[in-house]
Amino acid sequence: MDLGIIGKKAIVCASSKGLGRGCAEALAEAGVNLVMNARSADVLEAAAEEIRARHGVEVTTVAADIVSEEGRAAVLEAAGDVDILVNNAGGPPPGMWYDWEREDFVKALDANMLTPIALIKACLPGMMERGWGRIVNITSVSVKAPIGVLGLSNSARAGLTGYVAGTARQVAGSGVTINNLLPGIHATDRIVQMDTHAAKTEGRDIAEIQAARQATIPVGRYGTAAEFGQTCAFLCSQHAGFIVGQNVLLDGGATNLSM
Ligand code: NAP
Repeated sequence: MDLGIIGKKAIVCASSKGLGRGCAEALAEAGVNLVMNARSADVLEAAAEEIRARHGVEVTTVAADIVSEEGRAAVLEAAGDVDILVNNAGGPPPGMWYDWEREDFVKALDANMLTPIALIKACLPGMMERGWGRIVNITSVSVKAPIGVLGLSNSARAGLTGYVAGTARQVAGSGVTINNLLPGIHATDRIVQMDTHAAKTEGRDIAEIQAARQATIPVGRYGTAAEFGQTCAFLCSQHAGFIVGQNVLLDGGATNLSM
């Protein structure tokens, strides 16, 4: 399908690996020029080079912490006028309710709520003036079904979701859509870390943990960054102009919601 976005420019935050990388790859396949970001310069540049070679689009890299003000400023400066923004950052660590102090919450809110909000605020005026824009925030299944050990993530994602619910409707009339993509379990480094943590705390083998988790997913496997990325690219396409303020769940059917 032609997504109708050849030649557009996208910022894809936290995109050297995992779900962000999947989004960058799918947008590049649709002909979108990219500004890719991550903290480790070498991994980021290697990912960018693969995407340039495979899809022939322009890829600018900005090695920076997207959670820092300087990092965000560097990404925005490298991008200039931008048509598409994919917000992403690493997720907070798992733990128990008694593990987290105020600073832990501030850190989580900074990464997974206030950083995407700052980037949305920076990109919206130009998108609205030009009459077209697509913003996709990578959040989590925990927005619909909070996960016990991810209290920090649950809290921050809920805050961003609330902000998007209002803002998406305030700007929709200008041709800009904002939506959230909610990953269930996808096979990325983040999930290896989560499975390793579970194996350690439960004293079980990691393969056993993975098999048990896969059994909770009707599709019978973890999702892939590639299929996640393709959904993101569709939400960024010309065809998705009527999808506004939605929380799109990609979880292989694991969360059984009637609505
Ligand atoms: P991942 O495989 O660990 O990849 C994270 C990517 O983000 C890497 O490219 C990393 O590169 C970059 N990154 C992390 N923190 C950054 C920062 N502060 N500034 C710039 N780049 C940063 O993670 P993932 O599985 O794709 O997860 C992406 C997001 O989805 C996370 O917020 C995660 O909590 C959420 N999520 C994932 C799943 C899942 O199943 N995978 C499920 C629910 C929610 P550097 O380390 O070099 O910066």
